[in-house]
Amino acid sequence: QETKLEVKQVQAGWEEERGRLGTIRVYCRVRPFLPGQSDGQSTVDYIGENGNIMIVNPCKQGKDARRVFNFNKVFSTNETQQQIYADTQPLIRSVLDGYKVCIFAYGQTGSGKTYTMSGPDLTTEETWGVNYRALRDLFQISKTRMNIIEYEVRVQMIEIYNEQLQGIRNITNYIRNNSQLNGLNVPDAYLVPVKCTQDVLDMMKIGQRNRAVGATALNERSSHSHSILTVHVQGKELVSGSILKGCLHLVDLAGSERVDKSEAVGERLKEAQHINRSLSALGDVISALAQKSTHIPYRNSKLTQVLQDSLGGHAKTLMFVHINPEVNAIGETVSTLKFAEEGCLDRAWGCTVES
Ligand code: ADP
Repeated sequence: QETKLEVKQVQAGWEEERGRLGTIRVYCRVRPFLPGQSDGQSTVDYIGENGNIMIVNPCKQGKDARRVFNFNKVFSTNETQQQIYADTQPLIRSVLDGYKVCIFAYGQTGSGKTYTMSGPDLTTEETWGVNYRALRDLFQISKTRMNIIEYEVRVQMIEIYNEQLQGIRNITNYIRNNSQLNGLNVPDAYLVPVKCTQDVLDMMKIGQRNRAVGATALNERSSHSHSILTVHVQGKELVSGSILKGCLHLVDLAGSERVDKSEAVGERLKEAQHINRSLSALGDVISALAQKSTHIPYRNSKLTQVLQDSLGGHAKTLMFVHINPEVNAIGETVSTLKFAEEGCLDRAWGCTVES
């Protein structure tokens, strides 16, 4: 059981760390070669301990062939789901302290975003992704506080497809309530009260089945929508009766690949253009925040509007940036790493402070 003093100490620790590291962190994860792929040539030359990764571009010669990118941390191909999640746990604790937290997965289709967020297999706890581990910890930590704070947890799952917001469909057990997120109406959105990890697992299985999935030349399982799992937490302090409200957005972004690569036409081209535009809007918001600009362009996409209160201010943000080490992915790898680095670290995402 946590005492009230311990809860306060953890909160103070976070405040101190936030001052030191900034509110946004970027972790890079390198996907391993998959069975059947040649693993002879990798574009990852080395991974340093201080969050450095050196990329080698086989199409270039001399000093232009290598470039180092800096992040808060880089995970190599053999790190487990547990190791990937380990640093995320304090963020989950802070949701229970009343913070707004946003965790993103960014990268080209097939680079491992869904693997990081959901995991490859819901039935095996060992390979669970960030989503399930986060929810499991949320319930576990809330139990240790039950003598001090009474928590209510509600979960909402939405997707953004072609700039349209859509709630999770086909949940028959719950009353449909047209819901709002940051002032936006989300048709068919359900705020589902959950009591344990299993409740969330059940909901996410339905959500996964309902995601808009289509085939492209790059990957048959390619996902063309942004999927957002939002966990709303309300805590009531038992002695004082005061209320705290925390929120956790777990976001599996649509693939970041450029339009020409996916040989898209018609519907697919439209999807790709919407995706590119919303990811650029996300990059613009993040860099405006990092530059402490007076105007933050949240209104340029549904994605940034929905996440507005979890980006900037007192919110905490973590982005997992994914890369595929295959030589034929070099173009996307470099543009992914540039997006993450130029939009963030160069302009005060705190990497140099940490190292
Ligand atoms: P994305 O969501 O970015 O399109 P996926 O998560 O679906 O990519 O990953 C593409 C493929 O690579 C899947 O078969 C997945 O199981 C595999 N994969 C991704 N990351 C890893 C990893 N860290 N270890 C093992 N396999 C992985």
